[in-house]
Amino acid sequence: MKLTEVKASTALNPSKLPGLDYALNPYRGCSHGCVYCYSSDVLRMDNWQDWGNFVEVRKNIPVLLAKQKKKISGVIGMGTVTDPYQQAEDKSRITRYCLEQLATSKSSTTVQTKSDLIIRDIDILQRMKNVEVIFTINTMDEIIARKIEPGAPSPQRRLEALRQLSEAGIKTWVFLGPIIPQINDSSDSLKKVVRQVKDAGAGKIMYDRLRLKPNLEERLRMLFGYEKANQIFRLANDKEWYDNISIEMKILCDDAGLGVERAF
Ligand code: SF4
Repeated sequence: MKLTEVKASTALNPSKLPGLDYALNPYRGCSHGCVYCYSSDVLRMDNWQDWGNFVEVRKNIPVLLAKQKKKISGVIGMGTVTDPYQQAEDKSRITRYCLEQLATSKSSTTVQTKSDLIIRDIDILQRMKNVEVIFTINTMDEIIARKIEPGAPSPQRRLEALRQLSEAGIKTWVFLGPIIPQINDSSDSLKKVVRQVKDAGAGKIMYDRLRLKPNLEERLRMLFGYEKANQIFRLANDKEWYDNISIEMKILCDDAGLGVERAF
């Protein structure tokens, strides 16, 4: 993993995501290296083949945030582009320093992650007035998770972290996305996620389809082979397939007593 320290010019960027006013991303690059990731497109980086192997640590972000937070209010989304609790955070603690700033701001915060490292910061999260933690959990199958999210903590570790946060009184919900045809779209797979995140205390699930971004087809071919990747791509484009997934998610979540939303 190539780590580089860089200076950011701003901590907060306006966000176009629904429900968010600002985006806060302490890292550029992400060690989780998910096969379906399109953050390199969002960041307009052309070295997507190397995604997962380099991270820029935006070291001065907490200092910038300390100034910027006084001038704004609204909802800040932490981790809209890259995971704020990826491996580098263990030592650099930039996300923790940012949370310290946000704990004394007028803003609300959402933190999205796939990492149980967030447990380290429960003490700050409990002090924050308006905070939500969103865990991305796409499957409970460890082998599939290792294949599609090779650098991220296992689903079981995420589930345990979700449980601890919920028990600590922190509002949590789960992002189940992307649902990839023939990989994590079976009834059994969806049911396991719904049941287990409900038991761990999540308040709702938001689910999402596979976003067919540039370079994705090539990445899928490298991982699953030509034929399987073509099948995935064909189904991911199929409106009926996703409509059926939506019906299934609604039934599963209603049965479990869990809120459900389709992503924008
Ligand atoms: S955790 Fe998010 S940002 Fe990181 S590689 Fe996976 S999809 Fe991309």
